[in-house]
Amino acid sequence: MADTIQSVKGMNDVLPPDSARWQHLEATCRELFARYGYGEIRTPVLESTALFARGIGEATDIVEKEMYTFKDRGERSLTMRPEMTAGCARAYIEHSIHGKEPVTRWWYCGPMFRYERAQTGRYRSFWQIGCEVYGIAEPTIDAEQIAMLTELYTSLGVGDLTVLINTVGSAEDRPAYRAALVAFLEPKQDALCGDCKRRLVTNPLRVLDCKVPTCKDAVAGAPALRDHLGERTRAHFAGVQRTLEALGVEAKVDDNLVRGLDYYTGTVFEITSAAGALGAQSTIVAGGRYDGLLESLGGQPTPAMGFALGVERALLCMGGDAAAFVRPIDVFIATRGEDSRVRATALAHALRKAGLAVEVEHRDAGMKNQFRRADALRARHALALGEAELASGGAKLKDMATRQEVEVRLDDVAGIAAAARA
Ligand code: ATP
Ligand code: MG
Repeated sequence: MADTIQSVKGMNDVLPPDSARWQHLEATCRELFARYGYGEIRTPVLESTALFARGIGEATDIVEKEMYTFKDRGERSLTMRPEMTAGCARAYIEHSIHGKEPVTRWWYCGPMFRYERAQTGRYRSFWQIGCEVYGIAEPTIDAEQIAMLTELYTSLGVGDLTVLINTVGSAEDRPAYRAALVAFLEPKQDALCGDCKRRLVTNPLRVLDCKVPTCKDAVAGAPALRDHLGERTRAHFAGVQRTLEALGVEAKVDDNLVRGLDYYTGTVFEITSAAGALGAQSTIVAGGRYDGLLESLGGQPTPAMGFALGVERALLCMGGDAAAFVRPIDVFIATRGEDSRVRATALAHALRKAGLAVEVEHRDAGMKNQFRRADALRARHALALGEAELASGGAKLKDMATRQEVEVRLDDVAGIAAAARA
């Protein structure tokens, strides 16, 4: 026998019925985002490597060690998108959206790729759903996005939520803070992990975000960014908090929340869920403001705010048996012989046009076997088309739960549909 080929490490298939849970989550997002005025954007999986190096930042985990980068046959360096914010920003600039409308609201859904240590809630191919708003500098939009997310998770039944917010300050606030943080951390260098020793030079704020215990200890008592914020940043953050309060969203300020990506300015947030017992992977969505990103990619200065939620992580925290999300079959048609199968196929075709979900037994199987399959499929009704039914043109539609039967005419599609809906 030939060797079988396995899927790539950290990259998973999603099969029915589990895909029904995915569809439920996606449909909930689609409907919710439409109510908030977002339109869907779809961009290619592949982008120029330079987009991520510039957009996300060279000194980030993603760009330093997580990207799937390769040369195509034309020697161009391409990268499989590790996130969507950079790609959306590229599209916004490329399509001159700035000149077309003052406010743009986009949402997206798709697979992202990062070369990470695969574990529960952390994969090399994973799905993100996210939103991007361009053109609004005011803090009310930051709060609106956070509130929309708490609404989303609540309606999905993802519980035990904690909303963490912080501000990483503006480009003007950061140099002074950076200097204070480096002065504090330099004497403790030996206690830092290898990555953080490097970050101390390239991107010291990232040390605050490190999950290594010795680094966590080292940053205890570090100067708080909060004490280095300018008036504008402080007023903005107060505006976010005030709006969250008005929306009834409880948010905790977390001084060490800095987020891993370079492009953030001002508000940053994460929502965690304890429902999936995911430990270090309990962050189900992260986002923030990146007012400098578009300009840094060659666009007009444009305020922007967005988030990305992890689909697999949300699903790990969402209750519900997968089968409960699958559309049940309204009518299962059991058959005997080829004449019966032809007639059943035509009847099913008509019933499906009338809006019902119908399964025909196309295999030449025994009746008992067929009814067992109808049960396994959780069919709500069954209709057997044996010789007698074909001859008389009448049949019995059986309710699989109550076992009650009603007489139907095989040529009365509307009547069968009505009986199956009753
Ligand atoms: P983490 O600290 O867990 O690595 P991150 O800061 O790299 O997360 P973001 O880039 O902000 O994550 O992505 C937003 C969300 O996407 C995360 O909060 C998480 O829910 C999800 N996510 C990120 N990386 C992965 C992954 N490798 N596998 C599954 N989900 C992921
Ligand atoms: Mg990460």
